[in-house]
Amino acid sequence: MMLTVTLNAALDLTYRVPALVPHTTHRVTEVIERPGGKGVNVARVLAALGHEVTVTGFAGGDTGRVLRERLADQPRVTVAFAPVAGTTRRTLAVADAATGDTTQLNEPGPAVTSAEWAAFLGSYEQLVRRPGTTAVALCGSLPPGVPVGAYALLVRAARAAHVPVLLDTSGEPLRRAVAARPDIIKPNAEELAELTGSHEPARATRDARRRGAHAVVASLGADGLLALTPDGGWQARPPAPVRGNPTGAGDSAVAGLLSGLAEGLPWPDRLARALALSAATVAAPAAGEFDRATYEDLLPRVTVTGRPAAA
Ligand code: ATP
Ligand code: MG
Ligand code: MG
Repeated sequence: MMLTVTLNAALDLTYRVPALVPHTTHRVTEVIERPGGKGVNVARVLAALGHEVTVTGFAGGDTGRVLRERLADQPRVTVAFAPVAGTTRRTLAVADAATGDTTQLNEPGPAVTSAEWAAFLGSYEQLVRRPGTTAVALCGSLPPGVPVGAYALLVRAARAAHVPVLLDTSGEPLRRAVAARPDIIKPNAEELAELTGSHEPARATRDARRRGAHAVVASLGADGLLALTPDGGWQARPPAPVRGNPTGAGDSAVAGLLSGLAEGLPWPDRLARALALSAATVAAPAAGEFDRATYEDLLPRVTVTGRPAAA
């Protein structure tokens, strides 16, 4: 059983309109409503791959109730959100069918009180200590009210329970949590540059490891994944750039890395899986979904170059 944490979960609503024109009224031709937030996306991909996964974080109000119900309907997903008095946020994407562009409107999400945070911490510690928990992913931004050192605490609790932990966040929460020695971080190019001050990925991944991360897997958009790990360094590349919607591709890369970690796959195989899943997410029409046929087609065609660390 894997565990994903989404402190800032959401209910994602997509409206498709023929053409978006400001100051006019639009007929909505399609409505899609689904659970969202980074760790929720990771869990959806893991479940689609056949893994059992528990989702936690905060959910509250009517939107939180819908979020729990929708997730509980999904096979292989167990819902373990902690309560929050405020209402879970919604995000609204308005997709313009004429241009393919999307206009995104995101609510900030409910503020978390210190008592709610403390209750979440207690339930998280129980979840990571539960026998059979094989890996944890901590994903996304922090909601208002959650301390900036939150992910550092969650990394330490997972490590104390001897459960491998992967972190995908940005800014100061990332900086603090890296010092708590997570097993894997998965920054994109911008997040890695912000952490290290270097725009040169090879140099920046080395620097991020020196700061405490055991393994750094930088995601570089169409250039693929650059990994620096205790076992060696590798770059995974797609056979060709994929056209489509890159939103959520990073979350699929996290799902690939987490499942490979839980299964004990060698690093080059983990990276190939993460690459093929994330590129197949770019190819899928809906953000955060992946196209299975594209995944299976890409997996044997991913190139992984690099070398194991000297013994
Ligand atoms: P997210 O929006 O999910 O947070 P991210 O910014 O964290 O994404 P990216 O580096 O943009 O992550 O993309 C993650 C991975 O998706 C890349 O490392 C790569 O494997 C794959 N990917 C992204 N864009 C493309 C593309 N155009 N063609 C092929 N693969 C891609
Ligand atoms: Mg990106
Ligand atoms: Mg990302």
